[in-house]
Amino acid sequence: MRGPRLEIRLDRLLHNARSLSQQLASRGISVTAVSKASLGLPEIVRTWTAAGIDSIGDSRIETIEALVAAGITTPMLLIRSPMLSQVERVVAHASSSCNSEPVVLQALAAAARSQGRRHGVLLMVELGDLREGILPADLEAVAQLTLEQPALRLLGIGTNLGCQHGIAADPRNMAELSALATALERRFAVKLEIVSGGNSSNLPWLAAGHPPGRINHLRLGEALLLGREPLARTALSGLHTEAFCLVAEIIEAKDKPCQPWGQRGHTSFAPVATPPQRQPALRQPGLRQPRLRQRALLALGIQDVDPAGLTPPAGITIVGASSDHLVIEADRPLAVGEELRFGLDYSALLRAMTSPFIQRHCLQGDCLQGDCLQGDGLQGHGLQASSLLGHALPSGARV
Ligand SMILES: *Cc1c(COP(=O)(O)O)cnc(C)c1O
Repeated sequence: MRGPRLEIRLDRLLHNARSLSQQLASRGISVTAVSKASLGLPEIVRTWTAAGIDSIGDSRIETIEALVAAGITTPMLLIRSPMLSQVERVVAHASSSCNSEPVVLQALAAAARSQGRRHGVLLMVELGDLREGILPADLEAVAQLTLEQPALRLLGIGTNLGCQHGIAADPRNMAELSALATALERRFAVKLEIVSGGNSSNLPWLAAGHPPGRINHLRLGEALLLGREPLARTALSGLHTEAFCLVAEIIEAKDKPCQPWGQRGHTSFAPVATPPQRQPALRQPGLRQPRLRQRALLALGIQDVDPAGLTPPAGITIVGASSDHLVIEADRPLAVGEELRFGLDYSALLRAMTSPFIQRHCLQGDCLQGDCLQGDGLQGHGLQASSLLGHALPSGARV
């Protein structure tokens, strides 16, 4: 159990998934759980399916292929528009995909035809965040093109807000999506199965009590994993925000001066565009300035995690990071070999999950999953769904 590692509390992820999917189901909304920030870790995906989630989304076909190879049979939605160069793989392994480009739809149709399959299509609509999406005025034409392809099945429409410009879901843009769905159904005499309102950043709109209209589906990652909504990073009521913890080891611990000394230039990771620092050389503190602080290095760096997204334990301050070192100051003595535990935000989690240097340890309660007795963990924790508008679990609360 040594080396930097992510401790993943599957029991907390189960609670989040059950709680969110039940609350949303009561408002007629189904959930696709988005695995991209967990690099599609099969244990997490299995936890979600155990919680009743019946559709998994990921942005990369490689991850979807790995989940299928791990024996997961839940339908997979590719949530990023397929690369033209990957349409065969998309049709072979994902039951459906999000789309906004006619040329990709034609290529998906050709690939589905030649594989004897039918591929589901969710058409993404641009509603103001300016990432992916068909402009509303062009939606009808793209829907028509999709409906003309027997190898494609038009599942519905969706939108994605919050990710590029932080645009929030609100009564206006959600009503626009609903109206577009109804207009398409009238125009083509079809029924759209899915009207996908967005991602975790839609939850505050729902929690505010706005009627969902035609919105009957969300694609959720951050809310399930970290118990937060992305726009203000507010903890969602009743969800665990500490399902993940990054543990790293101290490799140097010394009392050192608070100030560096010598001539200064750029640090390793300063953006090239910033002007060189024109600061006078800093004087060596010497014995007459004995302002020393406990400083330590952890075997963890930018190759492993986004240091800006880490929450250190109490009494510890992160003062910097380079490729392989995290530099901290502490208000207590630290020892080489000691392990420290950090909380993670979405960016830190995404990078830690992607780093080949970070081990992943799945836990049920405080036990390593493999050490748990049969039946412990997933059941028997008395997990209860609570309302989005209820009370947040105190940090560190056990379920
Ligand atoms: C990442 C992503 C999601 C999930 O977003 P969260 O904020 O993590 O819930 C949903 N839809 C699309 C298209 C995405 O790219």
